[in-house]
Amino acid sequence: MGYLLKGKAVADNISVRVKKEAEELRRNNIVPKLKIIRVGESEDDLAYERAAVKRMTSLDIDCEVLSLPADIDLDTFIDELKNTANDNSVHGILLFRPLPEQINEDEVKFIIGPEKDVDCFNPINVAKLLEGDDTGFPPCTARAALEMLKFYDIELKGKEAVVIGRSMVVGKPLSMMLLKENSTVTICHSKTTDLPEVTKRADILIAAIGKSRMITDEYIKENATVIDVGINADNEGKITGDVDTDDCIEKAGFITPVPGGVGSVTTAVLADHVIKACRLINKF
Ligand code: NDP
Repeated sequence: MGYLLKGKAVADNISVRVKKEAEELRRNNIVPKLKIIRVGESEDDLAYERAAVKRMTSLDIDCEVLSLPADIDLDTFIDELKNTANDNSVHGILLFRPLPEQINEDEVKFIIGPEKDVDCFNPINVAKLLEGDDTGFPPCTARAALEMLKFYDIELKGKEAVVIGRSMVVGKPLSMMLLKENSTVTICHSKTTDLPEVTKRADILIAAIGKSRMITDEYIKENATVIDVGINADNEGKITGDVDTDDCIEKAGFITPVPGGVGSVTTAVLADHVIKACRLINKF
């Protein structure tokens, strides 16, 4: 029977440290601040925004939201982004993606300087991730998944890790992070032939697919650690992961629930990144 790896303990552990650091900064007249930039009003963005604002407030980090209309033109968007990037009171910037189609990401991805880019939008931070340079910022969700593994002392060195998904926000960055931890990493995607044959080799299986409950026990090895990054809504609006937890729990060694798993760690990681950015910018 698998053991459920819950996110709350991981988030609390990060939060305690972050709050102490935020208080220390404030005692030295430095007010750490996150600015969230949202274009449009997608329910996913609004839900994450609410969770992020709540987390920052509870950790003594200032947080402001810039809400822009979904039909904003490219020039106006660039002006808004530059204003925020140049605002000295702001240490971390979270820009929700994907952006609407009139905003070409290639034209804007360097505007938030790497030192304020707390969710790895700027290609300089992507390059740092590839190089294993810890001065950058990985995407918060990818790091949240790794924090789960580390908190629960899951051995990574020399283990077979299989990541399903190759997006720039989860699959690819998390694969690089696992490689840095000396796992042997395989990345799967929608064109992988015979997916279960590959995933059954995994000591650590990461599901970042966006397909509700797709991973059943046929995809996993006995006693595997299964990290479910997926956040989907089923037909009744219930939040589900990419893993069918009920089906896998008997066979898995460890498994993260959804909700209550990786997703609950992401905003704590975001807060940690804001503090790190604030320290780097203030050389404190
Ligand atoms: P994307 O849609 O960008 O990427 C999905 C990936 O899964 C792609 O690489 C795709 O392959 C692959 N894929 C799709 N279908 C299959 C299949 N049948 N078999 C194998 N691979 C498949 O999603 P994201 O990476 O942005 O997000 C992944 C999941 O994580 C989603 O459920 C999302 O909601 C969740 N998420 C959770 C966050 C959190 O805070 N916990 C934050 C961000 C995302 P291909 O490249 O070939 O198309």
